Amino acid sequence: KTKFVSIASHEFRTPLSAVLSSASLIKQYNDRREHDKISKHVQRIKSSVDQLTGILNDFLSLGKLEEGKVDVVNEVINPTQFLEEVKEEMSGMLKSGQQLLIDCKFDVADIVSDSRILRNVLFNLISNAIKYSEVDKPIYITCQNGDGKIMFNVKDEGIGIPDEDQKHMFDRFFRASNSGNVQGTGLGLNIVKRYIDLLGGSISFSSEYGKGTIFYLIIPNTTNENKK
Ligand code: ADP
Repeated sequence: KTKFVSIASHEFRTPLSAVLSSASLIKQYNDRREHDKISKHVQRIKSSVDQLTGILNDFLSLGKLEEGKVDVVNEVINPTQFLEEVKEEMSGMLKSGQQLLIDCKFDVADIVSDSRILRNVLFNLISNAIKYSEVDKPIYITCQNGDGKIMFNVKDEGIGIPDEDQKHMFDRFFRASNSGNVQGTGLGLNIVKRYIDLLGGSISFSSEYGKGTIFYLIIPNTTNENKK
């Protein structure tokens, strides 16, 4: 808990001061009727609040996971539609010139999984791909099904992960030595790992420092399992 409090106070400070400074600037620009600058700062407030919400959600998820209070609720998902929604929801986070390129080959119309958990997992991986890549770098998402499984890959051409840090990636609070001043708590991947364990799936990655990273996700497709 001490660690949580120290992370929270540290990670909350940056977005909170951005909100405060943008709010005062909006007031000044409003007096001078500078509309472009006003919208820029409104956007900054929105993304700072998104960041704060993200951190709080991570804290809550981890709390629930640790107490064993997360139930898997399987439902029928249309994978194409599901990924379109994820893409739509993430588009506001992209840096300038970044693109989310999705290439999915499903030979079934529906898959069965827990959409809330799956969304949360993909959000985490994609937002990392965005955060740890420069402007103009593409992010590729590929997926396919087969053999009672669904596979997702999230690939970026970002900063990569130094070899010596790779073994700690799923540890709670761990941040790689090259994470620099990118905002983060080191909780996201730990949460992802726990969710994937709950789904009975697996997650791995390969990364080259300075070149990019690819995460491989495999989860069971309960439809096919049931048919067996
Ligand atoms: P956070 O991003 O909040 O720090 P995560 O648990 O999501 O926490 O990730 C842990 C660490 O792993 C990050 O701090 C970063 O150093 C590294 N990391 C995660 N995803 C990537 C990626 N796609 N490219 C490079 N480094 C990454």
